[in-house]
Amino acid sequence: MNERPNSLHASDIAHSMHPYTNMRAHEEKGPMIMTRGDGIRVYDIDNKEYIEALAGLWSVAVGFSETRLADVAYEQMKKLPYYHSFAHKAHEPSIRLAEKLVEMTPEGLNRVFFTNSGSEANDTVIKMVWFLNNALGRHGKKKFLARNKAYHGITIASGSLTGLPANHKDFDLPALPVTHLTTPHYWRFANDGETEAEFTARLLKELEDTIAAEGADTIAAFIGEPVMGAGGVMVPPEGYWPGVAEICRKNDILLVSDEVINGFGRLGTPFGCEKFGFTPDILVTSKQLTSSYMPLAAIMVSDDVYNTIADHTAKLGTFGHGFTASGHPVACAVGLENLAIIEERDLMGNAARLEKPFQEGLRKFADHPLVGEVRGVGLIAGLELVKDKTTKEAYAPAGSMAARVVALAAEEGLICRNVYETVALCPPLILTEGDIEQIIARLGRALDRALAEV
Ligand code: PMP
Repeated sequence: MNERPNSLHASDIAHSMHPYTNMRAHEEKGPMIMTRGDGIRVYDIDNKEYIEALAGLWSVAVGFSETRLADVAYEQMKKLPYYHSFAHKAHEPSIRLAEKLVEMTPEGLNRVFFTNSGSEANDTVIKMVWFLNNALGRHGKKKFLARNKAYHGITIASGSLTGLPANHKDFDLPALPVTHLTTPHYWRFANDGETEAEFTARLLKELEDTIAAEGADTIAAFIGEPVMGAGGVMVPPEGYWPGVAEICRKNDILLVSDEVINGFGRLGTPFGCEKFGFTPDILVTSKQLTSSYMPLAAIMVSDDVYNTIADHTAKLGTFGHGFTASGHPVACAVGLENLAIIEERDLMGNAARLEKPFQEGLRKFADHPLVGEVRGVGLIAGLELVKDKTTKEAYAPAGSMAARVVALAAEEGLICRNVYETVALCPPLILTEGDIEQIIARLGRALDRALAEV
């Protein structure tokens, strides 16, 4: 393939519809075609090297050249390439992976349901929660609470939970009863003179007032990412999550922790709910579960959630939900091996140990004229760019400066992602201190070049 780069380029322009892409701009610009990976690096068709500082899409924990995952996939393909788990069928990879996930996740989450993507997982969560409330005769308790700038997926249901304009506008979403609350991001959304504690109190009051106004008997669940990822890497203020959890508990509202990005050590703790001190009823994982070598997501539920659903399936005769590839044996085998690598190499510990050099190294960009705020925890970070550091006004059109910095970073050999005005970083967990220095050097050059242009 490599010897015919121009035809690949032209063919992509002629035939492909890319997700999350301005399609007309793509016809002009064409694709960036990647051909191979090596550790935290990927190489394009011209053999240009890039540090993949977003781990693909926030997901490749073990790096881009883990042959152990290729080997288990091949072995599983030869042994039992496909089987399903409908109607009492089972196979060893999904049984073992469920067992492992129960062992790794916080106490009390003892049941696992597999899907192929985070979006499918969150659709499944909505249906489980509706099914559960119908089982309890609470037919009016169906609404979800989410947050502005949340990312929970892009299907009709999960996309409704997402709180980002690009995922709603002209897709006729939200299509479900969902109320989006204030984004828990102090730097951007605090009122003038408001302390962080006052900001937290205001958000918790908003939650309580919303429940009072809409009625606790109409609200089924609150869903949130412990640290918001794809909406721009927003770290919640002190006290926010324990407060949310307490209010949900008091009002009999289920709490769903969407850990599709946060899970498996990203924040320096195994799961994000552990970092912020709350216990969810439902926890959703994907991405780092298989390092995205295979598509897979897992929903973990509490014993109470499981038992209510299970009793109802006994009454109805079935749980009428599931995907052809739910718990696909190859994906589950890869997931198990990936988690074994994460444990053997203590990659979650590595993320915790590298938090300081990574976060402190990036904090030095807080003084850069283009940077309004540097934020993050563990190995996830965001730099929000501004035109005016005092008013926090962004460059126009919205998102253009972050897009420019990300384009220049790619020229410098660094892949990161622009989400609105934020440049996001979320490198593989196999990162080293030397890698951090290179990421910071390349990002610094991109920021300086962008500044020189304005
Ligand atoms: N939830 C969160 C927190 C995510 O970050 C994502 C994907 N970025 C999703 C759900 C949706 O996952 P998928 O793209 O696999 O459907």
